[in-house]
Amino acid sequence: MKLEEEKLYRAFKQEFFHWFLQYDDYGNFSNVIAELLRLLKEELMLKQVTFFVFDPLNKAFYPEATTNEGENQPFPRHPVPPGDIAAMMDDEQQTIRIEQENEHATAWIFLRFSEESFGMLQLVFDERHLFSEQMLKNIKHDFSELFRKIKMISQGLSDEKRYEQLHRFAAKIHSSMKIDDVLEEIINTLKQVYPSFTYYLFLSHDIQYHEYLPIKTIAFDESEENMAAMQAFLTGRIQFEDSIRQRRSILYAPIKGAQGVYGVIEIIAPHIMEFPKKEVNFITLLANTAGSALENARLYEQSRRFVADLQLITETMHQLNANLRLQDAIEFMVKQIKQSFYADEVGFFWFEGGKWELLPGSTPFFQSRQSKKYIEFVEKKIKTEKDIAFVGDTSVHDSLAVFDYRSLMAAPMVQNGELRGISIVLHREPYHFTFEMFKLLQSLIQHSTLVFTNAMLREELENLVITDYLTKLYSRHYLDEQIKKSMIHDAFGTFILVDIDNFKQVNDTYGHQIGDDILVQVADIIRDNIRSGDIGARWGGEELAIYLPKVSLAAGISVARRLSEKVREKTHPPVTISCGISYWKKNHSEEAKDLFKRADEALYMAKRAGKNCIFVKDYSRQYKA
Ligand code: GH3
Ligand code: MG
Ligand code: MG
Repeated sequence: MKLEEEKLYRAFKQEFFHWFLQYDDYGNFSNVIAELLRLLKEELMLKQVTFFVFDPLNKAFYPEATTNEGENQPFPRHPVPPGDIAAMMDDEQQTIRIEQENEHATAWIFLRFSEESFGMLQLVFDERHLFSEQMLKNIKHDFSELFRKIKMISQGLSDEKRYEQLHRFAAKIHSSMKIDDVLEEIINTLKQVYPSFTYYLFLSHDIQYHEYLPIKTIAFDESEENMAAMQAFLTGRIQFEDSIRQRRSILYAPIKGAQGVYGVIEIIAPHIMEFPKKEVNFITLLANTAGSALENARLYEQSRRFVADLQLITETMHQLNANLRLQDAIEFMVKQIKQSFYADEVGFFWFEGGKWELLPGSTPFFQSRQSKKYIEFVEKKIKTEKDIAFVGDTSVHDSLAVFDYRSLMAAPMVQNGELRGISIVLHREPYHFTFEMFKLLQSLIQHSTLVFTNAMLREELENLVITDYLTKLYSRHYLDEQIKKSMIHDAFGTFILVDIDNFKQVNDTYGHQIGDDILVQVADIIRDNIRSGDIGARWGGEELAIYLPKVSLAAGISVARRLSEKVREKTHPPVTISCGISYWKKNHSEEAKDLFKRADEALYMAKRAGKNCIFVKDYSRQYKA
């Protein structure tokens, strides 16, 4: 080694020592190398220094850092052609090579440790400053050792950082009970750890998530594309795949919890490479952490759903048990089911006298002819095939293929082991209902069937008795018979239909109990204001009726007026009534039902006219009284 070279090198070492004391970003190998190259260039007065890292898989050198970046000479992004270099590598003598061109020379110095190539230093000199061979050998020796040590340090530091990230990741996702948050955090961590890689999450279809995340659903089909992902999902083991055509390597890591595999993380390297063992271990840890967090979040969401379902059932039963009339009970259930399942149509059918009868309160669609097909379909499934009726897409069944509703679920109404009725729930979109919804529907129906049968029994019973159990007025059935008799024996009579105004609101405001009480109050007022031969009756629900045999229309109107006034004054909380009056006399051959119809139309007019008033409809005209 020449004397001035020795001096130069000593100066470099001195500078290096200074630099070493100041520098403290050893976590990033490339940055440290770039710094060292800069120092080398300045102190040894070189034109340019570049470091190439060796990729054993491709037997090629890739540029890692240079002192000339951004200058007129572009930084070579491609690997140095392997051919002659690979040949040189095997020859210890040749591990330094010099090329001389016009006014400058280039030295290639191969760096290795323990017999393995590691990288290459390229030094460019002004021709007159080309170093002696001894000097180059010293550089080779020292830099091989130096780079090895720096590599170890930076590896250690970056590992530490990794595991710190993993730790943060674990802490964060375990503190969240939302599936979406967990998924988002997986993606964020991958972004931080592998910024130059592309990644996706494959999830099993039963996990719900936001659309903005890079998530694909695992498809159980035969497509080549999905094979490795599927393999990872099914076996729970990491899978590798090299896509030669797209020149990139892909890793699939199963997202595994204690109870199963929930999905797969797909990590795509930007070029063909072997995933280092350390990376694979890290990714495995990350995926397992994600798996157990996802499992927790799912269990949590499940238990929350169970609680919500139970709440719904309890609440529904509570409402139903308030002695609703059948129609009100069905209307209420229809409303609950529509709300809970976002259903389009809900129908209740009762098996009566050998055929299916639509129960009042079902959505109007079930009065259409179309709906018959659905009933037949469900009946067949439930009755003969002893099957459940839960259909994701009705278009696969011939009998339903042409209709509008693609999702169907139905639950039987069973009492004492006997099929008594069916409820059918429909939605226009296919696969709208989940299996959880179906199970919930079954519980709801199971619990409410007894309420329906009781309401029906009570209403049937009402027809059999002469007095109404609540108001102690006559029953409608009795009223019917008395009017028929009167129409035979008498010469005329007046019929008044009474409906309490805004009664629904009364119920909603004060509760059903108070509603009942008001009904009783109005009934009492009626009883107190008619004579003994007159008949006050419960017409149905909150509608009452009075028949006045041998009473003229004018007298009937004044009875109605008196009643309206008393109701206004005496009820508490105060309500008003509307009345519709009809009248009959001999010679107009008429039946009781015509009398009812006219009174009903008059009542309708009274409601339309703003309620709290009386309308009359006689044979020829209708008017406000
Ligand atoms: P409108 O003035 O148009 O008559 O309004 P409304 O609220 O009275 O409407 P509608 O006649 O449609 O509703 C009657 C309500 O009366 C429905 C039902 O909840 C209630 N109802 C019917 N029968 C009974 C009963 O026996 N007890 C109680 N508490 N409420 C009843
Ligand atoms: Mg009414
Ligand atoms: Mg009313």
